[in-house]
Amino acid sequence: MDEYEAKKGFEELLEKMNAIEQAVALMYCDSSTIEPKKAGEETSKVIAILQTEFFKSLVSEQMKQYLEVLKNNIDEMDEITKKVIKRINKEYEKYAKIPSTEYREYRELTAKSEKAWADAKENSDYNLAKPYLEKIFEYNKRFVKYRGYEGHPYNTLLDDYEPDSTVEKLDGVFDGLKIKLVTLIRKIQASNKQINTKFTEGHYDIEKQRQLSKYVLEIIGYDFDAGVVTESAHPYTMDINKNNVRIASRFFENEITAGLYASIHEGGHARYEQNVDDAISKTALRGGVIMAIHESQARMYENMFGRDINFIKFIFPKLQELFPKQIENISAEEIYESVNQVKATFIRIESDELTYSLHIMLRYELERMVLEEKIGVEDLNNIWNQKMEEYLGIIPPNDKLGVLQDVHWYDGSIGYFPSYLLGNIIAAQLVNTMSKEIDIEESLLQGDFSKINEWLKENVHQYGKSKTPEEIIKDSTGEGINPKYYVEYLEKKYGKLYD
Ligand code: ZN
Repeated sequence: MDEYEAKKGFEELLEKMNAIEQAVALMYCDSSTIEPKKAGEETSKVIAILQTEFFKSLVSEQMKQYLEVLKNNIDEMDEITKKVIKRINKEYEKYAKIPSTEYREYRELTAKSEKAWADAKENSDYNLAKPYLEKIFEYNKRFVKYRGYEGHPYNTLLDDYEPDSTVEKLDGVFDGLKIKLVTLIRKIQASNKQINTKFTEGHYDIEKQRQLSKYVLEIIGYDFDAGVVTESAHPYTMDINKNNVRIASRFFENEITAGLYASIHEGGHARYEQNVDDAISKTALRGGVIMAIHESQARMYENMFGRDINFIKFIFPKLQELFPKQIENISAEEIYESVNQVKATFIRIESDELTYSLHIMLRYELERMVLEEKIGVEDLNNIWNQKMEEYLGIIPPNDKLGVLQDVHWYDGSIGYFPSYLLGNIIAAQLVNTMSKEIDIEESLLQGDFSKINEWLKENVHQYGKSKTPEEIIKDSTGEGINPKYYVEYLEKKYGKLYD
């Protein structure tokens, strides 16, 4: 086989894998929104079969041969193809090193574990999920041995979500940040400031909330011709391809902020996918580069733009139009305060922008300690509670509000959480640079996102996976990841709010 045949075969195989991925993504969207209840079992089966086909293609003998020929002729390839080969080769090596029977056993285990977790959570009994979680950690430790690691074994797991990141780098970023956050939170907890929460507590018609959601998505530049907005119990963004980026939001009658900010958050994710360059979106470099950069986009729109006083002033007339009674005696400033209230809560996904980061640090520290065998899975719930008291000053009264709240460990996602915190840090760093070129406050006040969106497309979105995360951050901000800007942002915002 010469390099031309190899390239042709390689591209056809990738196209087939892409088709499977798109089909699975579409089925996921369907099953989480409009699929009838009785269809669930059959859908899970079909998705499992398609996913197995995907992995079979990835670790196939064919793929191995194509990659060998292409790697030997890599100098003759164009830049994009070189990057595609590198990326697929990395994926190939990762899965080819794990014995396929063990990998299948592991997938079966995680499916059972997820069910056990749901049961354990409902009964608030960690013991029901513990045996599964023990096995999940055992498998992950074994996979790390098969795959090999540099520095710390956790680095290999982290690599699945955050290539470029290592424990050494994360510790450097997180350690100083933790002390500053805990200090700031303690100061806020001791403050006498009374926040008017009338805005968040009213009754809001769901249909009107849908209109508000559509309105803000239009303002931030979500392309409705390349996406559909639906509703689901858990909000998400699913990129089937760049012209088919689905958002699922959710709305509650007794609460307006959850739906409003879920829509803006997912809109931030979706804008990233919709703005990858056409040439890249047709290759295996399509889509956002890594979770942390993806999350940075979502959090930037949700928190740094969506919860900014200027943006709230801009949408205020729309709120008055849609909810004249609820808004009657509330000012834009009061809305600003209520959507930025800091309150320590047990549940990560209900927490505010400031305390959120500590929820993540806790999870990062715990999963690392288990991998290092400093603690056992049997102690996770107790140490969880101890750390909650240390960081946020509250102790979960039960495991449902503690170690059982997130599905991630129980579905096998170990090394997944740091991305969320990195997302906050990167968002602040990008906005800091952007603010030197664009009058962000004025843009938000005018509800005109054109300059902001153009900046993000230019510096982040267009590249898809063709740049590494480090390249994206360095090329756009002139330095490596730096938590300084995130701390400055929080201290300025919350120092003023709780003055
Ligand atoms: Zn997100």
